[in-house]
Amino acid sequence: MKITDVKIEKFSAPLSEPFRVAFGVIEDSDSWTVKITTDEGIYGLGSAAPIGFVTGETMETCYLVMKMFAEAFIGFDPMDIAGAHKLMDSIIYSNGSAKCAFDIALYDIMGKKKNLPVYKLLGGTDPVVHNDITIGIDTPEKMQAAAKRFVFEKGFRILKIKIGINPEDDLRALTLIREAVGEDIRLRVDANQGYNVETALEVLPTFEKLHIDAVEQCLPWWDFDGAAELMQKNTTSVKLMLDESIHTPYDAQRASKLHCADYYNIKLMKCGGLYTGAQIADIAQETGVKCMVGCMQENKISITAGVSLVAAKQAIVEADCDSFMFFKGDDDGIAGGFDRKGGIFTLLDKPGLGIDMDI
Ligand code: MG
Repeated sequence: MKITDVKIEKFSAPLSEPFRVAFGVIEDSDSWTVKITTDEGIYGLGSAAPIGFVTGETMETCYLVMKMFAEAFIGFDPMDIAGAHKLMDSIIYSNGSAKCAFDIALYDIMGKKKNLPVYKLLGGTDPVVHNDITIGIDTPEKMQAAAKRFVFEKGFRILKIKIGINPEDDLRALTLIREAVGEDIRLRVDANQGYNVETALEVLPTFEKLHIDAVEQCLPWWDFDGAAELMQKNTTSVKLMLDESIHTPYDAQRASKLHCADYYNIKLMKCGGLYTGAQIADIAQETGVKCMVGCMQENKISITAGVSLVAAKQAIVEADCDSFMFFKGDDDGIAGGFDRKGGIFTLLDKPGLGIDMDI
């Protein structure tokens, strides 16, 4: 099989409201869709959702890189995913979102060729994934109201709460949320690099009292020594997770060697897709670390890929693949991939991603 055509198109869907995290505000949800067609008539879809302050790519730079890949991929064997990554890495360093789009499209093609859904292609057997929903930073009262809406109106059982601007407000918001949702709802929090070692150690005992499962990325992304120190000094039951520190499998290797975290947050846009995401999960598995799959402002194409990775890998025990539910109207309008009831996602038993979309 050979690749005969690559088409790239912008995907825009407005967010229901801007989303605030400790290091910035996300206002739009633009991404690039890629459609890769082969000489056998099979096509694959992929998606790139760059965020400048995480992946170092803007929509514009991502497009330029994808155009370079598109040219290089004509005539390439789409079943050779390792070779595809070698090719992309030989063209440009980093640029995870652009690489991710092509990676996902190739897995979609491979699934269709082998008549298997992507999660089975990656070794999974159970199509059901329990996903969380995220509450952005706002006043503690508004965050509490959001928590109530997600739990009591929309049926979510796991909440991820953005914190990290001001520890006092963080603790107040978390206390209000725990009071409102009761003890049966699982809570995890994400500081998005907003703390230092001392602040984190100060708030962790209160997190434990509030039965917070885990806290994500307390420290700046580059501070692996600090993360290791925090791991050593954390005497609470609250698990420590790294997100912005873990882009590639090499980051996971380094973090595992230094014992920097209990969990890694794998994002396909950071690491370059399913091939490299699976490598991070394998490193975690070997070194006794668990994983979550998270997301950027992604639509259902890459979200389906992310959920498929969760279903496929034993080390991946948590899912934070919720971005498509923040588009206006609670959905991005893309049909297929998986069915959803509250936070319970069931992957479709269709070849590839199970998404038909013409671009
Ligand atoms: Mg995070």
